[in-house]
Amino acid sequence: MNTEKCPFCGASVKKENLKGHYERVHPKGQRSLGQPQAVIRSGSVFKSHRGRNVLVLSLVVLAVLGGAFLFNSFVANATMKLHWHPHLSATINGNAATIPGQIGIDPQLWHDHSLDQYGIGMAPLHTHDPDGKIHEESNTVRDFTLQEFLAIWGQSVDGSQVLGHPVDPGHRAYIVVDGVQQSPTQTVILHEGEQIQIICGP
Ligand SMILES: [Zn+2]
Ligand SMILES: [Zn+2]
Repeated sequence: MNTEKCPFCGASVKKENLKGHYERVHPKGQRSLGQPQAVIRSGSVFKSHRGRNVLVLSLVVLAVLGGAFLFNSFVANATMKLHWHPHLSATINGNAATIPGQIGIDPQLWHDHSLDQYGIGMAPLHTHDPDGKIHEESNTVRDFTLQEFLAIWGQSVDGSQVLGHPVDPGHRAYIVVDGVQQSPTQTVILHEGEQIQIICGP
């Protein structure tokens, strides 16, 4: 006999009657013959879950990487790559001028802010005590100059004035770097242990 098993109830049904059997006995079941589609659909639900998981995971990875990047750049910006101590003194008309402490730390003694990016919580060129010790403390290895230190302090030196004191008639301004005299406007690059004197006098 040419019969087939009904996939829903397992009954043996003549092949030519199978369609009628579905319609009579399994009107709903027949529709659910499209079940494989439902499986596909649930597969696609799974897929979209996976897609969402991948998205969430990507966002987490991005957040972690972004955080790590920010943390690294924070650490880099807070890591001292240069820590030198040049020494500065100033003599005006034979008297030692005070180089104040807290230059580049106290807002009153922190005028130029163009180098702030190199500093670690303060200007990269600063003083702690009024002893002429310039602290050169930078997160980046680069040249810093005496003129930049003076700008942070809010001072300058040229042929007509020295740290705000006018050059008296018959006097002149000059800078001595490790014993070598130079013009008051010549750039002085700051180095470890360097001895700098700013002088106004005969
Ligand atoms: Zn220091
Ligand atoms: Zn310091």
